[in-house]
Amino acid sequence: MSIFASYDSALDSLKSRGRYRSLISRSGHDFSSNDYLGLAASDTLRSAAIDALERGVGLGSGGSRLLRGNADEHEHLESEATQFFGVERALFMGCGFAANTAIFSTLPRQEDLVVYDALIHASTHDGLKLGRAETVAFKHNDADDAEEKIKEWRDSGGSGRVWLSVESVYSMDGDLAPIADLVDVARRHEAIIVIDEAHATGLFGSLGRGLAHDYAGDRNIVSLHTCGKSLGASGALICGSAPLIETLINKARGFIFSTAPSPLNAALVRAALNDLRDNPSRQKAAHELIAHAHQQAFETCGLSELQSQIIPVIIGDDKKVMALAARLQDNGFDVRGIRPPTVPRGTARLRISITLNVSADVVSQMFSTLAREREAIG
Ligand code: PMP
Repeated sequence: MSIFASYDSALDSLKSRGRYRSLISRSGHDFSSNDYLGLAASDTLRSAAIDALERGVGLGSGGSRLLRGNADEHEHLESEATQFFGVERALFMGCGFAANTAIFSTLPRQEDLVVYDALIHASTHDGLKLGRAETVAFKHNDADDAEEKIKEWRDSGGSGRVWLSVESVYSMDGDLAPIADLVDVARRHEAIIVIDEAHATGLFGSLGRGLAHDYAGDRNIVSLHTCGKSLGASGALICGSAPLIETLINKARGFIFSTAPSPLNAALVRAALNDLRDNPSRQKAAHELIAHAHQQAFETCGLSELQSQIIPVIIGDDKKVMALAARLQDNGFDVRGIRPPTVPRGTARLRISITLNVSADVVSQMFSTLAREREAIG
């Protein structure tokens, strides 16, 4: 028997359940990227790259930040991010996944409790698995349930610190967290709240500084701004109070034992943050397009109560969602299906993402095609 037989049979099982994933090349109008502001291929970032190369900014970093890998460009970015987000300190890491694993594997202690939203991202789950704190999920976007979980833990003798873990805009549902209520819960229980702004940065909060920005300066908030979505580059900025950031620098294994991100990439993120600050018209254009998409989604497909640039079209069945996505792709629209385990079982969906890479007309055409193909597929 082949040494890969068990892999082959696991892959066959994924295929038979409609869960097999494969890489397909990029084509058609963009309804699947997280490049919400259309910065990734923009002249803004292109000229920032050219300028950085002319300034002699390094391409590779050459090592961990704690060794030779710490470049001026990283430090400039962190100090500008501190100003822009109105926080005490910021730490740049290679990606949001690594940032979440660093936060949750390092900061909560063994005697602590992490209360996390039921729909929190996979990277947080992985961080929690690496960490030593107790964990419990609360009902999605239900601040009362989060508080209930904290009280139950205290009543049962829990004596450490409580951490709350939420996203501000949920990646697969596109709904917004009740940040004010969650911050209130955190304050009542002297909890630290970690707000993953991955899908809010660039679009929500004044100048796209995220939904936690209203509480900027609150030392009990840690916010995470990923740089590969609206910011058009890659990486992540962890923002928070000095002792927590210093702890990450000293203790987070994914920070210590990993090569620093490219300084060139830090230069791109600097340019993207400057663009958010100096060019609010980009954000305004994105919100106008999102409003148009919501209206089209309602008129053609009856979708309502949409809150953001992420529009989930729940289909339920795994195979059916992939068939529908394929039909849209055949029509020139790059819409992707999302299946369990990324989303809960029975909620396979199209995740339509509205970005400035498409025009309002293309958005209208995509929604009418979706309505037609959905009807056809039954
Ligand atoms: N948090 C959330 C909510 C995300 O959606 C993602 C990526 N999809 C990440 C973190 C990870 O960020 P990155 O892609 O930069 O690794």
